[in-house]
Amino acid sequence: MSLFDDLKKSVFFQVPAGMATTLKHVFKPPITIRYPDVKRPVRYRYKGRHHLRRYDNGLEKCIGCSLCAAACPADAIFVEASENTDEERYSPGERYASTYEINMLRCIFCGYCEDACPTEAIQLGHDYELAYYDRASAIYTKGMLIDMPINGMPSTPRQTEPGVFTQSIPDMEDPK
Ligand code: SF4
Ligand code: SF4
Repeated sequence: MSLFDDLKKSVFFQVPAGMATTLKHVFKPPITIRYPDVKRPVRYRYKGRHHLRRYDNGLEKCIGCSLCAAACPADAIFVEASENTDEERYSPGERYASTYEINMLRCIFCGYCEDACPTEAIQLGHDYELAYYDRASAIYTKGMLIDMPINGMPSTPRQTEPGVFTQSIPDMEDPK
């Protein structure tokens, strides 16, 4: 081993080298953020917690067809459908989801449910704060997943004009 190697290992070299590294970083802006007070925005295509969407008129997009449940590779979705009537309507067409549950402990956030949905009802959003104290709390129910109606539209169920909302799957100009 050379004298230079010995010198490199000595405290007279190591301490200034360490201090130099510290000084190099001390004036740089921090890369950490003060979570949970500050939340880093996620990427546009980030797949977080699911949302059940509504139409602009407040009716629910979900028609209880269970295609999302069939497509789910983790068997995380449970859907039970019931019949709509014009006196008590939740969604356009014949049926709506009377029960809709997602077991978040099973979900792998693949987005297959989103792709399978014929009405674009289920969508993965940007929420990533998914923590539970017990297994039962990890089952997200329809009440937790469904969006509120927008623009002051009434919620569901509601009475609708007979013969208007007969089509379960509306014509969509630009399905995404
Ligand atoms: S994101 Fe994937 S795993 Fe999660 S509920 Fe949808 S299909 Fe199932
Ligand atoms: S979310 Fe979509 S695929 Fe799933 S039951 Fe509702 S309408 Fe059908």
